[in-house]
Amino acid sequence: MKVLFISSEIFPFAKSGGLGDVAASLPKALANYCDITSIMPLYTKIDTKKHNIIPTGLSFDFVVANIHYYFEVYQSQNILFLKDHNNLFNRSEMYGDFEDNDIRFGIFSYAVLEYIKASGLHYDILHINDWQSALIATLAKEHYFLSGKVVFTIHNLAYQGIFSKDSIDRLALKWDYFTPAVMEYHDNINLLKSAIAQSDIVTTVSPTYAKEIQTHQFGCDLENFITDNSYKLEGILNGIDYDEFSPNIDNNILYKYDSGNIEAKKANKRVLLEALFLHDENKPLFIFIGRFTAQKGIDQIIAALHILQYMPINIAILGSGEENYNHLLASLSGKYDNVSITIGYDEALARKLYASGDFLYMPSLYEPCGLNQMIAMRYGTIPIVREVGGLKDSVVDINQANQSQTPKGWGVTFQNSDAHAIIDATQRALALYENEDRYLECVKYDMNFDYSWHSSAKAYLELYHKLSSGWLPQRMIPTFEIPSGYSIDTLKTIAVNPKTLYTYWEVTPSLVEKYQTNYSDLKLKAFADGICIEETSLYDGNGNYYFYHEIDFKKVWTKIGFYTADGTFTTILSSNYFIAPNSKIIYAENIIWRNLDTDALLHKKFIFSHKYFYESQEYFSSGMLAKQHQRMEQSLKTFDASSTHNISKGAKS
Ligand code: ADP
Repeated sequence: MKVLFISSEIFPFAKSGGLGDVAASLPKALANYCDITSIMPLYTKIDTKKHNIIPTGLSFDFVVANIHYYFEVYQSQNILFLKDHNNLFNRSEMYGDFEDNDIRFGIFSYAVLEYIKASGLHYDILHINDWQSALIATLAKEHYFLSGKVVFTIHNLAYQGIFSKDSIDRLALKWDYFTPAVMEYHDNINLLKSAIAQSDIVTTVSPTYAKEIQTHQFGCDLENFITDNSYKLEGILNGIDYDEFSPNIDNNILYKYDSGNIEAKKANKRVLLEALFLHDENKPLFIFIGRFTAQKGIDQIIAALHILQYMPINIAILGSGEENYNHLLASLSGKYDNVSITIGYDEALARKLYASGDFLYMPSLYEPCGLNQMIAMRYGTIPIVREVGGLKDSVVDINQANQSQTPKGWGVTFQNSDAHAIIDATQRALALYENEDRYLECVKYDMNFDYSWHSSAKAYLELYHKLSSGWLPQRMIPTFEIPSGYSIDTLKTIAVNPKTLYTYWEVTPSLVEKYQTNYSDLKLKAFADGICIEETSLYDGNGNYYFYHEIDFKKVWTKIGFYTADGTFTTILSSNYFIAPNSKIIYAENIIWRNLDTDALLHKKFIFSHKYFYESQEYFSSGMLAKQHQRMEQSLKTFDASSTHNISKGAKS
């Protein structure tokens, strides 16, 4: 099986955080079982000589939106690098607030696919990661017609690649993708969202995060969309590369050690404390390493320092990130005798900290997986973590270790995201530190706990195999119970094939009579791009209004209404719209639960739920319900405000 693993960063060539680590270590672990190649941009900052990155001789060019792009392919072992000649990757930083980020990574996505074309190779699996390579999911299938399956891994849902809809033309994409079901997001485009829609499988980097992102708290405004797609969502816990992260081989540290020789950790600590101007090696050393961003709980750490300064501990902080935090932490540096703060990204110092620390803080507000806690455990530094995401999946509180159903590393865990929780956890950590036997037991247990890629790589491999053998996850369709006292109507707009629209209103027969008495001439109308293309009052006597219509349209929807004596049309109910016939949705269905006791049509008292059917695969979303309901209510308000419409066919709706 042939796999292409696509990432915007791979350690040691480029790394901003966990993605860089995973993009290095997961393919390395998978290489034992399948033929896997990784590919990333060749940022000009990468030292090609140092890393022995050499040209392969392969180059290709292509045109997107009338701009000519030229790429050369470089290589170092089984990692490929795409060198651009259009100033896409020659920036001071890998990621930044650049105006052309859509182009930078959109064109990278094109270039990966152009590379596949130029190389003449077939890949069974394209494994894309985060928003930077997300566009590949759409392009691979619909522009390049590749048959390989697409696996999309979300490493952090907070970064979605949201751009103005102008990017559709800038990247020569089809406007058909600009639908809520694929790429549209509050009138912008959202690349991460499009990859969720278009990939065959979506994975997150821990099982708990896969669940969390379906909730309002962690869903970054995509929770309903993700819930809709949860049938193809899986959480696989990351691992770490033990060839990279092991204190007995790590050349960044002075005194190498393992669980049989923990005394050497103390020697590392002694040297580090001196370098950081901290005192008293008998006090436990608490470390924090990470990006300075709210996600990492840095505000809570800063608040807790006011109290932690009085405790018999030392604290060493290393990180960099958002400017306001960089400044704030720089201003705190030197303020507390027992706190050292280093601003910057320093791999070697990070390793020294892991090798010297007694405890590691990770009070993240959310954490897709988190690698720091795994690295810390490997180095015998006990993690103090908030119970979220991958932290919850990888660390159990030492006091509850026996109750844990799945084996996890031992640490100190807490739930609240405030300074008190950190202070309280620090006190518990201190108590553990003072109980030397238990403390050492915990350190050794963590050092020997297996967080290598061993089992997780196998989980990915299993997915690859299943997908390449033709398996695809299927949507589950929940059934409804109709609330008592309600009848059910169904308003359907279906593109039965690219040429025919089928519009269908199925209404409880007993109500038809009543409606017809009240509203004399009920009509069912279909609209395309704002134009009424068909209307009918054809009733089959069994509760069905319907018609077929030849189509040549884009945006379609259906309305039910009636004409008043003066010939104006009053809309009672309008369906959701969808884009046909090229979009994935070929079928929109609005189910209306109608209260039998009220004159619901007039008062518009309905309960809606909505079904879309994708390429004849049934789809229902209970998660979408609230939002759709809201949208529908909004549209009903609009219809209320302008409830009279011109009678003539072809009138604008
Ligand atoms: P994220 O990807 O959210 O930043 P992870 O815990 O998944 O967080 O991965 C963080 C990785 O980056 C770890 O390898 C950690 O040691 C490293 N790291 C984070 N900040 C720094 C820094 N300032 N200097 C060196 N290494 C860092």
